[in-house]
Amino acid sequence: MKDLDVILNEEIERLKEKGLYRTLRVMEYIRGPVARIDGKEFIIFSSNDYLGLAGHPEMIKSSVEATKRFGTGTGSSRLLSGTMELTRILENSLAEFKGCEETIVFSTGYMANLGVITSLAGRGDVVIIDKLNHASIIDGCKLSGARLRIYPHKDMGRLEALLASSMNFRRRLIITDGVFSMDGDIAPLEEITGLAEKYEAVVIVDDAHGTGVLGKTGRGVLEHLGMKSDGIIQMGTFSKALGSLGGYIAGHYPLIDLLRNKARAFIYTTAPTPSILAASIASIELIEREPEHRNQLWKNTETFRAGLKDLGFNTMESTTPIIPIFIGDEEKTMRLSNELYEEGIYAPGIRPPTVPHGMGRVRFSVTALHTEEHLQKAHEALKKVGRRIGII
Ligand code: PMP
Repeated sequence: MKDLDVILNEEIERLKEKGLYRTLRVMEYIRGPVARIDGKEFIIFSSNDYLGLAGHPEMIKSSVEATKRFGTGTGSSRLLSGTMELTRILENSLAEFKGCEETIVFSTGYMANLGVITSLAGRGDVVIIDKLNHASIIDGCKLSGARLRIYPHKDMGRLEALLASSMNFRRRLIITDGVFSMDGDIAPLEEITGLAEKYEAVVIVDDAHGTGVLGKTGRGVLEHLGMKSDGIIQMGTFSKALGSLGGYIAGHYPLIDLLRNKARAFIYTTAPTPSILAASIASIELIEREPEHRNQLWKNTETFRAGLKDLGFNTMESTTPIIPIFIGDEEKTMRLSNELYEEGIYAPGIRPPTVPHGMGRVRFSVTALHTEEHLQKAHEALKKVGRRIGII
């Protein structure tokens, strides 16, 4: 066998040839939407800290106090001695916030998806998913051993056909992102739940980008669509609008009880730290008490999107603070992202495997902390670079 380093370097070279090689950009600091990289300040459009809660004084205070009281680590998994009182306080307040009987907290959102999917689906079951679902959903499906069927993005006709031809499976699971993380559009959940009822399927919605952002009181995609949580399993994360870290599943009591007993992504990992739990508890309180962050987020989102449209950019079907500029070609996508970087604007180019080939885009996440000046600077840079590259 060839030396492993040689084989790995060949693989890396192939990625470079295809323009798919990635490197990590190290930030000296990131404060709200401003970061310092290589000694230069950038306006950041890549953070999911939509409400700016990650730097909120109350979040920091809760987190620091919990560390002082309880230490930095939990020392074991949830089922051993890792379930602190703080975890239960968080799970109870989340259940109330989400309007569900019970919730369970995981160390990350990625693990929450792995845990719930592998606990509900296995050999003999079918999982039917939107083509643009997040990677953690796809990985959960693959790990589950269930049959995987994929419908084109938001294609309800195709979803129905797949359900109709899946009646011989023991259990049918439909899983969809609530807000699609690379397109910024919203799933047609009313239609999906209607079909689920007709074909006796279970629905899981990934509300990672909806929680804290969508709905009058920030409760997420169901509130936004005026839907009840009954019968829908909700997954989400504390890592985005909630400014912390960790994932959760919210639903009926028997489901959560089963997950505590069966979800390997819950059982075989160390429990979240006190500082993270305390920050997550504080974030739910803040979302309820300080709606001004969400109001500002939506004001900024509409200003930024309208400006892009005026300039002639294609923002796809985005209706949320995730605003892609569609380019298509991967090289051009990276050129736009890199030239914006030269102008002090950090907006990542998104290319395969995150999106399909030919669907490259530069993705902007708007937050409540962007100022008018930040948004204007980004528009000006986009106008200059967009014209230079010939996109507008
Ligand atoms: N689902 C979606 C739609 C996401 O965008 C993400 C984060 N990128 C996750 C799940 C995973 O969440 P976490 O970052 O908390 O692991």
